[in-house]
Amino acid sequence: MKLKLLTLVTVVGLSLNLVACSNDVTASNTNEQNTSKNSSYKTENLEIKGADKALQRLKDGNDRFVNDKSELINVTKERRDQLKDGQNPYAVVVSCSDSRVTPNIVFNAGLGEIFDIRLAGNVVDDDALGSIEYGVAHANAPLIVVMGHESCGAVTAAYNKYTKGTEVEGNIEEIVEEIEPSIGKDKTLDDAIRTNVTNVANEIKNDPITKKLIDSGKVKVVEAYYSLDGKVQFK
Ligand SMILES: [Zn+2]
Repeated sequence: MKLKLLTLVTVVGLSLNLVACSNDVTASNTNEQNTSKNSSYKTENLEIKGADKALQRLKDGNDRFVNDKSELINVTKERRDQLKDGQNPYAVVVSCSDSRVTPNIVFNAGLGEIFDIRLAGNVVDDDALGSIEYGVAHANAPLIVVMGHESCGAVTAAYNKYTKGTEVEGNIEEIVEEIEPSIGKDKTLDDAIRTNVTNVANEIKNDPITKKLIDSGKVKVVEAYYSLDGKVQFK
């Protein structure tokens, strides 16, 4: 069923004022060089091939973030100039619209790194599936991460509706319906959040264009869970 939802798809969305900077961290990748008057800025010309390296890059970035060692990375003029001829993101991240779970922040990534798909409850409608297809088939990202999170409001709304009969209004109803199959009456809210990640990952894996790339070994789908203390667990 096609949901009539507002799809928020942004290639990048980095709020610099939320990124802690540090001068004493070391580079995790290639071609580090300072290009700004601000010596904490750094530019990396990324050549990340394959899902495993992409996943490691996300894990390294989350480690920096959770330890308050985020770097001002790939937000420089040099990086913007690099990207004028095109993009080569290494990951499509499907996550919730929740303002506490911004992928570029929690993975300490910069411009041209993460192809972002965000709807409340990290659900996917046809527009989101099409955007994912673009990310893997045209922007050539080798990795898709589906990331749920602790205390997700959209999953909570669905959970309360199907366990307590609490009604929701407007187009939120469509999101809640999408999440409904993940709700178990004798299961917890957190169980529902994790099951929803698996169900969305399966929906993506069954998308014909994405499935073809997965079957050929070019793309991998990984499930993830963000705790509000900042740590991302990959399954
Ligand atoms: Zn959420």
